[in-house]
Amino acid sequence: MCTTCGCSDDAGVRVIDPDHIHEHGHGHGHEHGHGHGRTVSLEVDVLAKNDSLAERNRAWLAERGTGAVNLMSSPGSGKTTLLERTVRELSGELPVSVIEGDQETLFDAERIRATGCRVVQVNTGAGCHLDADMLAAALRTLDPPRGGVVFVENVGNLVCPALFDLGESCRAVVMSVTEGADKPLKYPHMFATADVVLLNKIDLLPYVDFDVARFRTDARKVRPRVEVLELSATRGDGVDAWYSWLRKRFPAAQPG
Ligand code: MG
Repeated sequence: MCTTCGCSDDAGVRVIDPDHIHEHGHGHGHEHGHGHGRTVSLEVDVLAKNDSLAERNRAWLAERGTGAVNLMSSPGSGKTTLLERTVRELSGELPVSVIEGDQETLFDAERIRATGCRVVQVNTGAGCHLDADMLAAALRTLDPPRGGVVFVENVGNLVCPALFDLGESCRAVVMSVTEGADKPLKYPHMFATADVVLLNKIDLLPYVDFDVARFRTDARKVRPRVEVLELSATRGDGVDAWYSWLRKRFPAAQPG
């Protein structure tokens, strides 16, 4: 169960390697049918279990010298489009691979695979976020190269993913200018753990009412001094600053 929204997040989780279409069982041992009286302790249990699995993922990644970026946003903010461009433009420099999270479909994995990048899709079924157990299963299937960076595109949702540590090295929150500048204060948990905020679709700024200065100020009210990078994943404006941020964040990433 998701401790944030209460949805059943372990119903029908599948990890799919689009190169070898066969689905693996996920081996969840979660309990179902708990009574409401146990909600608070269950929440603590779920998060404590997730945190310990996240630490295991972190150690697994560290042993390989592999960085992991947890990319979070609402649906439609442009995460996959940004990843398509990022893996295309960085793959000559770094070993990059991708884990895609969506409730259903292989759409995003197919888009990433078309760039030539190694990718695994996690379908969460009824679930609203990725958790550390799902990431562990996806990492085993992906088998990312030593060094480099794994980009983890979380399920599009500005609420629940923020609560679940995956064992990632850092968190990037993507917001697009079509979503409105008020989101950092309305959804503070998402922004409070961001290592970088990527403001996407700035090519649309002439057509929408979006106050960039207010957005920056409010993002930093929630996450003091967080870097806010303005970019357009479709047109390419500002993406060099994102790549510089990644190089600075992962100085030990080995050239591919
Ligand atoms: Mg996507």
